[in-house]
Amino acid sequence: MNHERSRELYDRALSVAPGGVNSSVRAIQPYPFFVEKGDGGHVIDADGNRYLDFVMGYGPLLLGHDLPEQVQSAIQQRAAEGPMYGAPTEVEVELAEFVARHVPSVEMVRFVNSGTEATVSAVRLARGYTGRDKIVIMQGSYHGAQESTLVEGEGTHTSPSSPGIPESFAEHTITVPFNDEEYVEAVFEEHGDEIAAVLTEPILGNHGIVHPVEGYHDTLRDLCDDYGSLLIFDEVITGFRVGGPQCAQGKFGIEPDVTTFGKIVGGGFPVGAIGGRSEIIEQFTPAGEVFQSGTFSGHPVTMAAGLETLRYAAENDVWAQVNDLGAQMREGLTDIVANRAPEYTVVGSDSMFKVIFTRDGASGENHCGSGCRQRESCPSYDACPKNGADVDRAETERWERLFWPAMKEEGVFLTPNQFESQFVSAAHTEEDIEEALEAYKEAL
Ligand code: PLP
Repeated sequence: MNHERSRELYDRALSVAPGGVNSSVRAIQPYPFFVEKGDGGHVIDADGNRYLDFVMGYGPLLLGHDLPEQVQSAIQQRAAEGPMYGAPTEVEVELAEFVARHVPSVEMVRFVNSGTEATVSAVRLARGYTGRDKIVIMQGSYHGAQESTLVEGEGTHTSPSSPGIPESFAEHTITVPFNDEEYVEAVFEEHGDEIAAVLTEPILGNHGIVHPVEGYHDTLRDLCDDYGSLLIFDEVITGFRVGGPQCAQGKFGIEPDVTTFGKIVGGGFPVGAIGGRSEIIEQFTPAGEVFQSGTFSGHPVTMAAGLETLRYAAENDVWAQVNDLGAQMREGLTDIVANRAPEYTVVGSDSMFKVIFTRDGASGENHCGSGCRQRESCPSYDACPKNGADVDRAETERWERLFWPAMKEEGVFLTPNQFESQFVSAAHTEEDIEEALEAYKEAL
């Protein structure tokens, strides 16, 4: 493949943008390809190379790159009528109504502009509502570029994971291993009265796609109820992807107090949202006293894109379609991995999938990739990664330096970090999945 033009653009970018990119994950070595345009389930780069795209913007593009007519015209109409006004519009009410109608725990929604802004606001809300400072997060989770969750370490021994964050932020953050009930129970026994919230992704989506084992979320729910803390589900990835319009909380049958959204709910435009029970969400200004505000919040073009995307998905059985494709991908990968690299692990759920390189790691054998949560009935339960530490033993170097570039040369665009999920979209076809599986065969 020729990458001359991307190379030129990257050289230019390096002199005006730190690392040549606007989000650090995009800085693929030796240089990223620059995208010219999307086309259905593909992207085409500046040199005219065509890739099957399973990054899908890191998750927002449920429908892929060719938006249906009803979504396109809603976006164009909003943009043509003046892009934004600094005053409320009907479309933001309609999108909030859609979210509240479908997501079991949500009665009210505040829209913001990114997943990060949503989780920052949700943490502030929980602290304001409870009058407490501490939050509990999962090791290996990601909640955006925010001070309170960019921490490393275990339990109460945490420190900031980036320069520029005062130690005092990390002092309020306790990290626990995902799926370890005893650990989190012990944390609550000692600090329960100081904990404002447990913040967790329902499925760890930024760390190899790790599923909750049966009963784990119930334990978190019970602890939060017993100690008067809030349970916050970060559904920025899983929202309107896992579990369809009811989101992961619907799939798992757990009602968090607060949910953060992003990605799909904006139909491919910048978005975030915080939803939950009215009595909690109404703590936000101006109804309550927890400060929250934003020039671009509830942006009409984003709201129109999100609303029409979700309406289209609901009317056209899109979730069933992408989940079938996701299952086809995981089944195909499971066969390939079993033959070529049985120590690796296929993980995923609904329209999410990934192969992680677990040689010498937690898995030791392949498992089904279906996100089984059953302690009793799943034959590969022990082999399935349960938390960030399990996944951390995977071979990142091999994945990122050898496997990812090999897949790119095969014409398949995957998230370059081994721990981040891949996504199937409604623009992909069964033939696309077959083609991708052939590429996996070669690259593995
Ligand atoms: N929360 C989760 C679970 C995410 O995966 C992300 C981003 O990938 C965020 C929050 C932050 O969202 P954003 O990148 O829109 O700020």
